[in-house]
Amino acid sequence: MLFSNCSILRPNGEILENAYLQVTDDKITYIGTKKPTRHTGAVYDYTNKLLLPGFINTHCHVPMTLLRSVGADLPLDRWLSEKIFPLEDKLNKDWAFSGSLLGIAEMLRSGVTSFSDMYFFGESRANAVLESGINANLCMGILCFDDSPFDKAPMVQESKDLFHAYHNANGGQLKIDIGLHAEYTSNPIIAKAASDYAKEIGANMHIHISETKKETDECIARHGKTPVAYFNDLGVFDNHVTAAHCVWLTEQDKQILADKKVSVAHCPISNLKLGSGIADMFSLMEKGINISIGTDGVASNDNLNFLEDMKLTALLQKGLHRNPAIFPASEVFKMASQNGALSQNRMQTGALKLGNQADIIAIDYHSINLLPCIDVISSLVYATLPSDVKMTMVNGKILYENGQFHTIDIEKVMHEVSRIGRKLY
Ligand SMILES: [Zn+2]
Repeated sequence: MLFSNCSILRPNGEILENAYLQVTDDKITYIGTKKPTRHTGAVYDYTNKLLLPGFINTHCHVPMTLLRSVGADLPLDRWLSEKIFPLEDKLNKDWAFSGSLLGIAEMLRSGVTSFSDMYFFGESRANAVLESGINANLCMGILCFDDSPFDKAPMVQESKDLFHAYHNANGGQLKIDIGLHAEYTSNPIIAKAASDYAKEIGANMHIHISETKKETDECIARHGKTPVAYFNDLGVFDNHVTAAHCVWLTEQDKQILADKKVSVAHCPISNLKLGSGIADMFSLMEKGINISIGTDGVASNDNLNFLEDMKLTALLQKGLHRNPAIFPASEVFKMASQNGALSQNRMQTGALKLGNQADIIAIDYHSINLLPCIDVISSLVYATLPSDVKMTMVNGKILYENGQFHTIDIEKVMHEVSRIGRKLY
């Protein structure tokens, strides 16, 4: 198919005007200002539309759409123990499937083409991903609250089963990572065994690290070291790791993350909502750490509008450092796209260039809240609303277009989630 008369955002930040982009199967096969001589499939007139790579949400718990706005105004430990854990005990795999589809629809609507997700109900999430067509790196969050051996710890067998059943399913649309929930929900034997297992099978790892001061202080009391130093000493960072949050880091922690090339998934809205703090991402950027952006689960966000997280990522660092020049929109856009691709270990996406996967979104900049669109990248990060996302394509297939979902029966999903809500609460 061919998109014509559009603007195209190139990886170097340049905007190509009156341009053409061709998609053949699942790849980008032409970008230029001359109409390609040979093209097949439908031709879309995309006048006034900007094509850019889809956003990558690198930390989510997608079935938590079912727990939207639960436990508001509580700190993380009480929010988890008093509200979230008791409700999660009531969930089942069918409900998790519906909640996942609702969350995926919400992400597609704000331009997300891939997400990294840690939760229970691996099969339900995997099936929702495959049915919807979105890309995802899914993992179970391995936990252990006693002296169980690795193979008996919760979510270990489920992690192995999920990996063997779904890793690289549908040509790599779905990848399975090894998730370790956190330091405070496991022990050194389990953490090391999970890390060794990830090495053995060549999987990425996904871990919550230093989300709260309490978590960090208690880790120091338990092990005499910070969560970052603890995981590093266990060899965990010899894997390809995405560390979610990283709000409470020492200078030594930052150096370890930089040296070990750990990607950090910054979740600004969740960190603010739960009162966890404001992560100093600028200091991580100065060390050359790969920073990407995550929504976290809906229960602490309280939506999956990724555009809000992008805007807040920029604003928080400017305010924190009293410097409007840091975290420019172009850098935040890179975090939302290329850096996310690196976090997910998906090097064929995150930028519009020849040969890359056709993971593309279209923003209609002839819009009330975007006109006059003088600085496109600034408008993208600071002024764009989900209603401006007119098309979301993943692997060459249009999944969302002009408010319509092509692979999700959204009315049915909304009806189902409403029904679940009445049973759950
Ligand atoms: Zn999380």
